[in-house]
Amino acid sequence: MIVDYHTHTFLCKHAEGDVDDYVLRALELGFDEIGCSEHIPMPGGFDEKHRMSLEEYVNIYAPSVSEIRERYKSRIRVRRGIEADFFPGTEDWVRGFIKEHDFDFVIGSVHFLGSWGFDDIVFVHQYSERDVDSVYEQYFQAVRKSAASGLFDVIAHCDLVKKFGHRPTKSLRDLAWETLREIKKAGLCIEINTSGLRKPVKEIYPSDSILEMIRELAIPLTLGSDAHSPGDVGRDFDRAVALIERYGGGHIAVFEGRERREVRVSRVVPA
Ligand code: ZN
Ligand code: FE
Ligand code: FE
Ligand code: ZN
Repeated sequence: MIVDYHTHTFLCKHAEGDVDDYVLRALELGFDEIGCSEHIPMPGGFDEKHRMSLEEYVNIYAPSVSEIRERYKSRIRVRRGIEADFFPGTEDWVRGFIKEHDFDFVIGSVHFLGSWGFDDIVFVHQYSERDVDSVYEQYFQAVRKSAASGLFDVIAHCDLVKKFGHRPTKSLRDLAWETLREIKKAGLCIEINTSGLRKPVKEIYPSDSILEMIRELAIPLTLGSDAHSPGDVGRDFDRAVALIERYGGGHIAVFEGRERREVRVSRVVPA
């Protein structure tokens, strides 16, 4: 089985295409499942430039996922997901939102350290104004907390802090290991996210050294392109599938109604 569980749409204001465009691309590629995982609406105007409003979720996104799931049901399984931000202070709101809507899976992401959108190119200069080692520490601590929050099923792009190519001077091992142990303890899975290849770092998330630890801890893996354009669906999945074989025993986690199953990954069918 081959799936892409991480896709966006025009509704987040920094992606193009609607749900239909992404699903059609997945169909074209011969995928078995596609997950629609737009950025979650957030309360109090939080990062509203990069996400849909609650009204847009209810009136546009949710109904279009339902409609398209029904339209293509004999050809591809469309899973209802969401990419939910972990941000201290908003947990109750996010928990309520997730409870109120019927998701197949919930991806948990850390995109902010305090008020710093560290993965936003607009604020990239802040890396040079900060101590990169402590940025890495803060980032992995936030991921650890996100895992312990009980809100999510999948940990997104788990070493996103490397996006622009900033590297810590110290070994990442202990920091990553403690975080992965928390992810394991919480029973979550981690996505292999190919979007890093399209960013300055030009690496898949997570890196091979983290994947080694994931294998050691037997943490399940899933697959996502983090597509912000329909052409990104399934991008570089030949490489991702090779990593699944190497670090995940050839199995991927798939979801329905937030129940996880592990299935054999298949090779990517060339389009
Ligand atoms: Zn995005
Ligand atoms: Fe993200
Ligand atoms: Fe995303
Ligand atoms: Zn993402």
